Amino acid sequence: MSQEETLKRRLDRERRSRKEAESLLEEKSRELYALNAELRRARDELEERVIERTRDLEESRRRAVASSHAKSEFLANMSHEIRTPMTAICGFSEILRDEISDPETLKSVEVIRRNGIHLLTIINDILDLARVESGKVSVHATEVNPLQLVQEIADLVEPQAEGKNLRFSTTFLGAMPDLVLTDPTRLRQILINLIGNAIKFTEVGEVKLVTRLIPKTGQDFQLEFIVIDTGIGIAEDRADRVFQQFEQADTSLTREFGGTGLGLTICRRFAELLGGTVELVESRVGLGSTFRASLAISVSEDANWIDNPQSYQPTSTTPTSTAAKQSLHGVRVLITEDSPINQRLFVHILAREGADVITRPNGRAGVDAVLTANERDEAFDVILMDMQMPVMDGYTATQTLRSQGVRTPIVALTAHAMTGDREKCLEAGCSDYVTKPIDRERLVQAVLDSVRETEVS
Ligand code: ADP
Repeated sequence: MSQEETLKRRLDRERRSRKEAESLLEEKSRELYALNAELRRARDELEERVIERTRDLEESRRRAVASSHAKSEFLANMSHEIRTPMTAICGFSEILRDEISDPETLKSVEVIRRNGIHLLTIINDILDLARVESGKVSVHATEVNPLQLVQEIADLVEPQAEGKNLRFSTTFLGAMPDLVLTDPTRLRQILINLIGNAIKFTEVGEVKLVTRLIPKTGQDFQLEFIVIDTGIGIAEDRADRVFQQFEQADTSLTREFGGTGLGLTICRRFAELLGGTVELVESRVGLGSTFRASLAISVSEDANWIDNPQSYQPTSTTPTSTAAKQSLHGVRVLITEDSPINQRLFVHILAREGADVITRPNGRAGVDAVLTANERDEAFDVILMDMQMPVMDGYTATQTLRSQGVRTPIVALTAHAMTGDREKCLEAGCSDYVTKPIDRERLVQAVLDSVRETEVS
């Protein structure tokens, strides 16, 4: 074969293999293109599915939020419906109790009053839990004297313990600062509940409250309250369940001791909001139980350390009742309230303290009464304003009065116990806020405070 021929054949071979390579490349790039298109389709489809799913999730979230909102609204309304008649039941039975001398009638009135209070506790528990669950409970840390707080709790629970012939004692382990930062309202609720349970489930022996402070870092500490009783105890297999909603260690005991099975759940949630928890440390059936509430606190920079807290004497206690003893003589009060029963109750309470009381059944009539009195130079000193009323509600009435330049103190009376209501009333222009059922002392106190504030300003 000539050299030329060999070269030609090589060139032919190379051309063929190039062609083959080119067509392979073309085929592969076509495949790649198809694959790419398929991938793009899949991506678009996926994107569409993600968008659809997000839309579905957004819709479910919206529905969940709406239903939780509806639940809160329902609870607020229910509490209004129940608390309003409860105001009358508890309020009038308290008034009757002070006025009746026949021992048998007195006993019956006392039963009504006690049951009314019990019913209110249940409603409050349910409301508290609903509020915690919907994230509506906020904690407000302020300076609290733990020694004074323990003393106040002891004063409150001692009569209960004495009533059952139980000893109640408080002990502090180690030195204590007289100012720490925590939420006193929630802390009080936790302790009253744990000690209340200890007394409720103990027939003989004693209930002890032990307080101690465990250092963490710098000014941060763990404040521990240990509640020990010598009561019926809790069986080991029920121990975890007592912290679940509506769970009781032994349901057969419910009838004997009463209760809703919500107390411990609420206590634990409150303690968690305060950076701690509530636990059952130990319990033995027939011997007693030990519960512990722990909170994360910081010690105030202004705190004094008390080396021997056991002999500590608090310097002052809030004089709520002494202030209320002052007379409302000559104070002109307007009550705007649609319920005739509540009108009678509030008039009764305030008139007994010497106030001149006038009532109006709705916001519009209330506004007219205030404006007429102002024109005649007989202005009211205080306006008590129910917030839920027909014709014109308390919010609108208050806004109307404020927009007309009326500066008289307006105390909102409301059965809504949901967080946020207070702000709503204050935003409308109210100067104070009292939640129903209104206890006599709180009502008189609110009127007194309002009068005093006007005098100062
Ligand atoms: P309630 O007391 O209203 O039923 P709680 O949530 O406070 O609800 O308590 C749940 C249950 O835990 C109680 O019903 C009781 O069975 C049990 N329990 C709580 N504290 C004690 C205690 N100190 N001793 C014995 N049992 C207790």
